[in-house]
Amino acid sequence: MAKTFEIAVFEGDGIGPEITAPTVDILAQISGANADYALNFTYAPAGAAHYAKTGVALPQESLKLARQSDAILLSAMGLPAVRYEDGTEISPQIDLRRELDLFAGVRPVRIVPGQRSPLKLDGGQAIDFVLIRESTEGLFYSQGRGDVSVDEARETLVITRATSEKLFRFAFELARQRKVAGSGPGKVTCVDKANVFRAFAFFREIFDAEAKRHPDLSADHAYVDATALWMVERPWVFDVLVTENMFGDILSDLGAGIMGGLGLAPSADIGEHHAVFQPCHGSAPDIAGRGVANPFAMILSAAMMLEWLGTRHEIAAMSKDGAALRFAVDRAISDGSGTTRDLGGNCSTQDAATAALEALAAFA
Ligand code: NAD
Repeated sequence: MAKTFEIAVFEGDGIGPEITAPTVDILAQISGANADYALNFTYAPAGAAHYAKTGVALPQESLKLARQSDAILLSAMGLPAVRYEDGTEISPQIDLRRELDLFAGVRPVRIVPGQRSPLKLDGGQAIDFVLIRESTEGLFYSQGRGDVSVDEARETLVITRATSEKLFRFAFELARQRKVAGSGPGKVTCVDKANVFRAFAFFREIFDAEAKRHPDLSADHAYVDATALWMVERPWVFDVLVTENMFGDILSDLGAGIMGGLGLAPSADIGEHHAVFQPCHGSAPDIAGRGVANPFAMILSAAMMLEWLGTRHEIAAMSKDGAALRFAVDRAISDGSGTTRDLGGNCSTQDAATAALEALAAFA
């Protein structure tokens, strides 16, 4: 009998509901056509608009639903004008990472032929690497805890052995899976600033200890500043990059930039028991309500969700559907059938989603 997976859906703010609707529609169509698994979607209120209305950013009921679900699909949350009294924005997506211990922020960076990238890839090099951003500590540990006086402000970066060990184990496992799938050579690069900060020397030491447990894979190090340069000059040298939260936050936007924009950058925040799948971009209030947002980052995140659930529950058809959805989006990007305005085209959100669905039919 088909296993039914409970999916908690956070529509979020701004363009969130506009990109969630076609994504859930595609997932419903894919799973509806498959006898091996089923998906049941339950919507969870949370976000900046919800906070403005109720005074609560992440209701306990929504958090409970997230905890009880098999996976969480989230669009984007936050609105620049909606803030706590301390001046920071409400960001339940970050609270979720902490509450559910989602330590591994997985950010694939892929450029397929035909994809409009600011890089000059004259040699036709394929770009396919993954940035893993630690997502529960680092400099973000300090969120809401910083000390600010009239003359001084301090925020503290925290790196723990326990989280770093889990993070590096995850990174090497992903490199192994990519090697088996033929997506990478099986190399993990620790991105840090160990030349300046003791905390990063500690991070690197834990990485080196984990690397020794994986003689079938290779490991190296790179400083974060050099990594930013190489992501522009020769991104084809990377396979799996693993780094601290704040460095990863910045590098993942650089990754989105070389892919041609935030509208193409998917992500997953993965822990040992839960996972959230969401685009890297925010709620894009500047284009909200116009039906022009690019849905591909969200659809690609949904594809990652299918692949993750399929691997975790050993349902090959589900992993296959996830991969097919990824290929379908690649096709809609490379043949131009799903080119939204941010990519230089005229497609609406729905046109782009339809182009992906039509491309998917070719893989069925
Ligand atoms: P943003 O990612 O929302 O937008 C940056 C630029 O990219 C804008 O010009 C926007 O129009 C464009 N853009 C983003 N997604 C797009 C898409 N799918 N299609 C086409 N264009 C797209 O970043 P921002 O403007 O700095 O932040 C807006 C709000 O989102 C803020 O409140 C911020 O805190 C929040 N935010 C949330 C998340 C999240 O939920 N994970 C991440 C980043 C920012």
